[in-house]
Amino acid sequence: MARYKDAVCRLCRREGMKLFLKGAKCFTDKCPVEKRNFAPGQHGKDRKAKIVGYGLQLREKQKAKRIYFTQEKQFRNYFERAARTRGVTGEVLLQQLERRLDNVVYRLGFAVARRQARQLVRHGHVQINGKKVDIPSYQVSAGEEIAVREKSNKLGLLEIAKDFASHQAPPAWLEVDRDAYKGRVVSLPTRNDINLPINEQLIVELYSK
Ligand code: SF4
Repeated sequence: MARYKDAVCRLCRREGMKLFLKGAKCFTDKCPVEKRNFAPGQHGKDRKAKIVGYGLQLREKQKAKRIYFTQEKQFRNYFERAARTRGVTGEVLLQQLERRLDNVVYRLGFAVARRQARQLVRHGHVQINGKKVDIPSYQVSAGEEIAVREKSNKLGLLEIAKDFASHQAPPAWLEVDRDAYKGRVVSLPTRNDINLPINEQLIVELYSK
């Protein structure tokens, strides 16, 4: 699958807000959004026009796609599946994104950013109910136990992630034992559990055109 290989901070600058894609750096004054809060590129500083209509819907979709680090085709598939599912389409869309295994590993505090969580999963360090799962887009279900493989517990990045996450509680739909690098899906996430600045209705409008 295609991967975004450019500097990720450009994505935040493009959206004009912190998307927290890099872990600790995002909380320091080295964050480029703090230093250069204008769009990247030669004419970035000049693009100050108010965004409305289609542009607003497009930016909202791009923002959500970038936070969860998904590609366009995959994001569209999530939307189409959400549209076929009973419930409020925008909420189902966000719920699917939130249930991705890489996001859950990040939410449990085993990685400092979703990108790092994805790498942990891809490299086979994560198990679900005792079995290795190396598919970042895997959709977790209620009752499943997510754990870092015992052999991988000594990875330095896990220790750093644990420190990083120590000041924040996991979301209500997950429970975690950070010392054992284990967690459980207590229930599926609801819209209230997803504390991200995304207006999903605008994304639905964009794709419904
Ligand atoms: Fe975004 Fe973090 Fe880079 Fe700041 S440091 S621009 S929040 S990824």
